[in-house]
Amino acid sequence: MSTAVKASPLRRRGGRPVPGGPHPIVRAPWSLRSAGGVQILSLAPFKTLPWLVHGFSTRSGGTSVLDSGERVSNLGFTAWDRREAVLKNRQIFQSALGASDLELVLLRQFHSSLVRFFADAPRDPLKGDASLTATPGLALGVQTADCVPILLVDPKKRAVAAIHAGWRGTLRRITEKTVGEMRKRFRSSPEDLLAAIGPAIGACCYEVGTELVTQFTSQFADARDWFDELRTGDEPNPLQWLNRMPPGHQPPPRNVRLDLPAANRSQLIAAGLAGKNIFGSDLCTACHPDLFFSYRKEGDGSGRLLSVVGIRP
Ligand SMILES: [Zn+2]
Repeated sequence: MSTAVKASPLRRRGGRPVPGGPHPIVRAPWSLRSAGGVQILSLAPFKTLPWLVHGFSTRSGGTSVLDSGERVSNLGFTAWDRREAVLKNRQIFQSALGASDLELVLLRQFHSSLVRFFADAPRDPLKGDASLTATPGLALGVQTADCVPILLVDPKKRAVAAIHAGWRGTLRRITEKTVGEMRKRFRSSPEDLLAAIGPAIGACCYEVGTELVTQFTSQFADARDWFDELRTGDEPNPLQWLNRMPPGHQPPPRNVRLDLPAANRSQLIAAGLAGKNIFGSDLCTACHPDLFFSYRKEGDGSGRLLSVVGIRP
């Protein structure tokens, strides 16, 4: 399995730049389009399915106003924003998606591995971190600001799922579990499933404590592949010799960087998806504050992105 993960397209930085595309970092099969004053990231293999609605929100546009005066499309209820502004932003985003006639089902996310099946829209949002449905007229959404949003589509059974995977949910195998629920509920064959791994904090920026190495390696055979070399928490320190420690006697490493999208890709492979059917955006939320929200970068003042997948009525 470890080989499969290493050979996966996620590691292969690439794809061709979109000719004349609006943003140089977005590469095929992903694209960014403007609609209704906002920009939506979407995936070509999903667009070929006429019954499907999908999109990943981005930062700009919308009616929320940051302290800096910047207007943003914040799609989650945060302490700094007005509820009416968020609801308005959701309306704008949903309309830009061409999904105004769908009912949007969101979750009260809490970094769990709780997967919810929806036959109908609930009266009030339920707790959970992944959702699935095969009901026309429903759109599922997950909110993120660094965590990994994953959308799953079964083109044969016309079923969809949306996953919110932070490190806790990833450790609890939420992505693998969601595929299992799709098999159970819809008789989905994993080899038919298409997966889109949206913008999330990348291995370039996601520094975590070394205790996570132990937690992940005790659970996953290929977890070592998802961490960069152990580094000292004091880096960058160009004057290492100042601590007067001889080589080999450096303080123990305190921080490492975790590749959360790769960990989730690995769960999709473990659940039976074909590597060619998994599409990683390779877009780091922390590296691109002009395009996304990043909790690591912006803290409590960060907005929330919304990733949506639904079935046309
Ligand atoms: Zn980054």
